[in-house]
Amino acid sequence: MRVRVIGAGVAGLCVAYPLARAGGEIELIEAAAMAGAGCSRYAGGMIAPWCELENAEPLIARLGAEALDFWTHDIAVATVAGSLVVAPAREAAELTDFARRTRHFSKLDAAGVAALEPDLAGRFDRALYFPQEAHLDPRQALATLDARLAALPNVVRRFGVDADKLPPAPDWTIDCRGFAARDALPGLRGVKGEMLVLRSDDIRLTRPVRMLHPRRPAYIVPRGDGLFMIGATMIENEERARVTARSIVELVNSAFAVHPAFAEAEIVETGSDVRPAFIDNLPRLIRRDKTLYVNGLYRHGFLLAPALAARATQIVRDGAHFPELMDAHSGERAFA
Ligand SMILES: Cc1cc2nc3c(=O)[nH]c(=O)nc-3n(C[C@H](O)[C@H](O)[C@H](O)COP(=O)(O)OP(=O)(O)OC[C@H]3O[C@@H](n4cnc5c(N)ncnc54)[C@H](O)[C@@H]3O)c2cc1C
Repeated sequence: MRVRVIGAGVAGLCVAYPLARAGGEIELIEAAAMAGAGCSRYAGGMIAPWCELENAEPLIARLGAEALDFWTHDIAVATVAGSLVVAPAREAAELTDFARRTRHFSKLDAAGVAALEPDLAGRFDRALYFPQEAHLDPRQALATLDARLAALPNVVRRFGVDADKLPPAPDWTIDCRGFAARDALPGLRGVKGEMLVLRSDDIRLTRPVRMLHPRRPAYIVPRGDGLFMIGATMIENEERARVTARSIVELVNSAFAVHPAFAEAEIVETGSDVRPAFIDNLPRLIRRDKTLYVNGLYRHGFLLAPALAARATQIVRDGAHFPELMDAHSGERAFA
């Protein structure tokens, strides 16, 4: 089995890994000079299958639950510390609504919040706690996965190479180009996401905290060493790199509402990219002869890539078929 994997974002790296471990001869092609230089670089790194049910189909939670084992045990880069969901006092209805849509949580009172995150004592009198969820640092996760691949004798990684300029692969091609694959997948759209990284030595949060708000929801993901990723906007446009003042103000305001010490935090980084998404925000495995497109990971790249990679491996190795990811989209008009 010879497989060319195009793209070393979270999708391509995750796909290459089980294929290589299944004995495939893997050629991984990446246009950038390093792995994880695309959209995956800006992710929050929340592995939160049950929180995501707030806005996502049950399929996302089902596939996403597989990622917990992959990132915590196989690659050993994720921490299972759960997720905490809070809302400003005047938006208490948001918390009730979130609880109605999601699963696998417990309800906390003020004492419960303080016991879990002492820094939030006295700030929230209700919260939801999802104890089985995890988080990771995306850049560390991608570098670790890339290093695992580099250590395998049957994997060749080629950076700074545009796959469009190569002759066709002799056997299978798995296209994991993310948003760049819209030339081949006309229904693919971009959903812009902006983020920032703040540093504060005065804040001790140990797990992702989601702040609900009807117009400006946000989350904080601790990265260690006083660093906190604050994310993320969801904007229906395909502008990849420009971070606006409005977005920064809104994200900082949300962080400030969780913990006032964020007002004095140092801005370490701002960043933005577009999430590759189809019209229903669900992922697709699109097979055209011996080319398989793994795309549409939307806001769930780290959550979904391990499950999609396991299925891609079965398609290449055994000709397996996964109706929920492949069938609804076999007609090209489904992309329109
Ligand atoms: C602000 C933000 C926060 C997010 N938070 C989360 C989160 O908490 N949890 C989560 O699960 N997801 C999150 N996401 C979503 C996640 O980042 C995406 O779903 C994911 O990165 C998509 O991965 P990908 O591999 O498909 O695309 P990319 O990461 O964009 O990878 C595609 C790769 O293909 C390469 N490429 C393109 N064209 C070519 C070519 N012709 N030849 C060779 N290589 C090529 C690119 O250089 C790139 O490296 C977030 C996204 C954003 C923007």
